[in-house]
Amino acid sequence: MRVAVIGGGVGGAELIRVAAPGPLEFTLIEPKRQIEMQALYPEYLGGVARLQDLAAPLKPFCERTGTKHIQEKALRLEGNTVVCEQSTVEFDYCVIATGAAQNYFGIKGVENTFSINTLEETKRARRFVEDMNPERIMIMGSGLTGVEAAAILAESMDASIYVVEAKDRILPPFSLQTSQLVEKELSKRGVNILTSTMVTEVKKDCIMFADGSCLDCDMAIWTAGVKPSQFVADLDLPKKNGWILVDDYLRAKDNVFVIGDGAWIEIDGKLATKTGLEAERQAKHTAQNLLHLAEDKPLEKYAIRASTDNQVALISLGCDCAVGVVGKVCIGVPTRLIYSVKSWIDKSFIKRFK
Ligand SMILES: Cc1cc2nc3c(=O)[nH]c(=O)nc-3n(C[C@H](O)[C@H](O)[C@H](O)COP(=O)(O)OP(=O)(O)OC[C@H]3O[C@@H](n4cnc5c(N)ncnc54)[C@H](O)[C@@H]3O)c2cc1C
Repeated sequence: MRVAVIGGGVGGAELIRVAAPGPLEFTLIEPKRQIEMQALYPEYLGGVARLQDLAAPLKPFCERTGTKHIQEKALRLEGNTVVCEQSTVEFDYCVIATGAAQNYFGIKGVENTFSINTLEETKRARRFVEDMNPERIMIMGSGLTGVEAAAILAESMDASIYVVEAKDRILPPFSLQTSQLVEKELSKRGVNILTSTMVTEVKKDCIMFADGSCLDCDMAIWTAGVKPSQFVADLDLPKKNGWILVDDYLRAKDNVFVIGDGAWIEIDGKLATKTGLEAERQAKHTAQNLLHLAEDKPLEKYAIRASTDNQVALISLGCDCAVGVVGKVCIGVPTRLIYSVKSWIDKSFIKRFK
């Protein structure tokens, strides 16, 4: 059974790791040479994590698992064929795991800011921090990425750090208790938090807000929101809000599965979060379902763990500090132990591929 996996990030790589070697013949379509772990980008930005902590080369992993690696971008699906930049890949089953891209919402000048959504972008931001030593850094967006980046930068450099959020509290998808605890931790580190503040334009040296005011800054980092990857945007499959709609077995159609950030997964009234934790679980589940198909066994329904109304996350707030979130409950102590657990989980994910 030939399986084409499009995207070798958290979801795609984990699926192959679990299912191969075995009865399935995998082809991985991924333009990068390595598997990368986004959860460690804020620490890399703060100069704490090293490149080898957050990336593993694909070549030895593919050799070990008997996977063929096509180092190209997939462009589209034509029947049971993935059309890539140079080649085509025939499949019996396809798994789409192309993640998400940064969304700039068409705000003027935002595309010129720094982002930490890809390793290349994060490296560019880190180089700027090292070379220019900015004194005033504006982080726009206060989701997981924004608050983690703010905490680590506040701790690792002598700069004024601002977090700008359009909603009335930081970490809007999380419970009020989580927002308050994280805000307290950020304030302890001297981070300035501006809520109910809508960015309307990013100029070279300042950020403009909806009320007409502006703030000078010498580094602007955009973390506010994601959108489907270009590959997903171009696909002609059923979608919700641009994301590919899947059934209870994570299928967009009979022989096409979609996992991770690119999928809209709504099962038993719950909506899956776009997190590494979910992508990894969906990958493991789909690996098992593909093995079932190879053995003519029925597919098993997926059960969401981290949903939008029951968030599950570990949020790191600088070195040696993290908080854990399970639903409405936010566990703030002992922060050091929670940080060690998160750091271990993130680093051991990459180690599995080495
Ligand atoms: C800064 C940051 C911090 C985060 N921290 C956490 C955290 O602490 N905990 C947590 O649970 N989640 C965290 N997340 C979210 C988590 O990283 C994602 O939810 C997870 O990586 C999604 O997995 P994925 O497989 O869907 O996509 P990804 O891991 O992004 O992988 C997608 C892959 O698809 C490839 N690709 C894209 N387009 C194509 C194409 N056309 N053809 C072939 N390949 C393609 C890309 O190169 C990439 O390798 C964080 C995200 C960011 C950005």
